[in-house]
Amino acid sequence: MKNYLVTGGAGFIGSNYIQYLLSTKTDVHVVNLDKLTYAGNLENLKPVEKDPRYTFIQGDIGDRALLDSILEQIDIDYVINFAAEAHVDRSILDPEIFIKTNVLGTSVLVDALRAKWTKADGTYMVGKKYVQISSDEVYGSLGPEGDFSEESRMAPRSPYSATKAAAEMLLKAFWHTYRFPMVITRSANNYGPYQFPEKLIPLIIYNARHKKPLPVYGDGQNVRDWLYVGDHCRAIERVVEEGRLGQVYNIGGDNKYTNIEVVKRIVNYLHDHVDEKIDESLITFVEDRKGHDRRYGIDATKIYNELEWKAEVPFEEGLIHTIEWYLKNWEWLEGVTSGEYQSYFKKVYGSR
Ligand code: NAD
Repeated sequence: MKNYLVTGGAGFIGSNYIQYLLSTKTDVHVVNLDKLTYAGNLENLKPVEKDPRYTFIQGDIGDRALLDSILEQIDIDYVINFAAEAHVDRSILDPEIFIKTNVLGTSVLVDALRAKWTKADGTYMVGKKYVQISSDEVYGSLGPEGDFSEESRMAPRSPYSATKAAAEMLLKAFWHTYRFPMVITRSANNYGPYQFPEKLIPLIIYNARHKKPLPVYGDGQNVRDWLYVGDHCRAIERVVEEGRLGQVYNIGGDNKYTNIEVVKRIVNYLHDHVDEKIDESLITFVEDRKGHDRRYGIDATKIYNELEWKAEVPFEEGLIHTIEWYLKNWEWLEGVTSGEYQSYFKKVYGSR
């Protein structure tokens, strides 16, 4: 029996991961520690909420007393830290909370674990592992060719990516100084069910169905590597099981598309399957995001060679599955797009 502490498990990737874990393994207990910010939603965990192997605790990864009490009561084997402020546009509007959660919060969490997992002789308890869920954005922007490997230089360019890079630096220092048992994963842009509609794919689905303008930054030519969230969850589990301590693993989908290509694919699918009034005339180019990274690409050879993981969901298939999921779960989408979301949307894109 393994005890997992999943932080940020009520968010997009964390909730997919918890569902994945409980559906693929029997001998696990999962504690989900989540602050429930605007991005945390317990509706994402409806399918597992009654599972006796699942426990939810509302709280902050920066709350040392709470962490100590959880670690005192449960002998945690694995920690997967998803908890973060995770949206670049919000980090441009207000970087402070990103520093608090992504940097300071992570430091409190790993320090609590270091204290708990260190034995009297200064060595670590065997079998403990901490996985930091990081991002390809720590590499900054790529030129027109090539991909980022784990050896590429970190060169974050947004407040969000700077905080993710800072957390990584801290963890690397903990590894070198204390041999803190950690692994870092850097993943590409995720997409799939339960993603908050401030991110491109659910935002476009939501606006298109309401026949609202579809905001696309700049010239729409920014390239992202798209990773289906289910593929990401499988990769994380491989890292938990067999990832080497002190290592960094890139996790990429090998699916590079420009933003405008992604938007057109969604529009055309909805045109053909939902309403022919949804068409490309809804696309509206808006002023570019400040400091917008032009291109990301991930070389995921290392995780393939070491852990035999590769992305399995082709983008065409994953995108259709995702669109269909949002259409079937429209109430979920409407539920998270009230109140705070509307005022945020106005701040970023104006009154469109
Ligand atoms: P998300 O915004 O959907 O979820 C984040 C979750 O963390 C929310 O449930 C929120 O309530 C919780 N949270 C925020 N601050 C907290 C705190 N102080 N204490 C406890 N919980 C807190 O984010 P996501 O898209 O699921 O991303 C999860 C992780 O993966 C993040 O660390 C992000 O940097 C990383 N990541 C995301 C992507 C992507 O494409 N979404 C790509 C690479 C890496």
